Amino acid sequence: MKGLQIEHLEAGLEAKIILTDLNLQVPAGEVHALMGPNGHGKSTLANILMGHPRYTVFKGTITLDDTALLDLDVSERARQGLFLAFQYPAEIPGVTVSKFLKRIADLRPNPPLNASAFLSELKQNLAFLDMDPSFVNRYLNDGFSGGEKKRMEILQLLTLQPRFAIFDETDSGLDVDALKIVAAGINRMRGPGFSALVITHYRRLLDLVKPDRVHILERGHIAASGGFELVELLEKDGYEGIRRLIGTTT
Ligand code: ADP
Ligand code: MG
Ligand code: MG
Repeated sequence: MKGLQIEHLEAGLEAKIILTDLNLQVPAGEVHALMGPNGHGKSTLANILMGHPRYTVFKGTITLDDTALLDLDVSERARQGLFLAFQYPAEIPGVTVSKFLKRIADLRPNPPLNASAFLSELKQNLAFLDMDPSFVNRYLNDGFSGGEKKRMEILQLLTLQPRFAIFDETDSGLDVDALKIVAAGINRMRGPGFSALVITHYRRLLDLVKPDRVHILERGHIAASGGFELVELLEKDGYEGIRRLIGTTT
């Protein structure tokens, strides 16, 4: 089991409470989807998990395997193997993709043994993402197209090899090719030591990722959990359908 465990979380933005008694488990080896209406706290949860300094935890616990996350700052959480998909520097002048990825690889508990081991791993990842090897000599985010930014994000994921990853609407506005890259990256990471929370409004990513479980976050807590049938119900009847299913009304 282990993986990510959130218990009785009460948290929000600065002094404002947004999440109330939120309980969620993402066992090691599983990929879960998190859906829910806009403004109900999904991004708040992602930011709380990453340790964003503007967000406040009032009550509750979050553990990743045996580590209490709430005691750790952002960089300590990254070192513990947490990855937030939208979190990467906008542009770093003078730092190449290769240099940046090397730094990320060195954060791992099992960093590459030497420069040539790193480069051969990087080559494999580039081939997997169907990218030209010369990409790694470019400066970080300097003139990257939308598709290149997305590939860069997935390169970071494959390089960090995190224990837990959060994708916060990383599929919004993507064309089909970019969507396939994101899904392929997540699916490549799948395995006993990896779990993830995929926040999305759309079925099209979930059709490719095939989540082990689906949660609906509404009014600051997990209102329903189930299998892919929740995605189908949502597509058919919207959140009204989910409320009918669990017997709540607006
Ligand atoms: P979701 O990701 O589910 O759309 P959010 O976690 O972004 O929801 O937002 C939860 C609540 O926090 C909303 O009520 C929203 O109005 C509020 N909120 C989000 N960002 C800010 C902000 N920068 N300043 C003030 N309130 C915010
Ligand atoms: Mg939103
Ligand atoms: Mg959001």
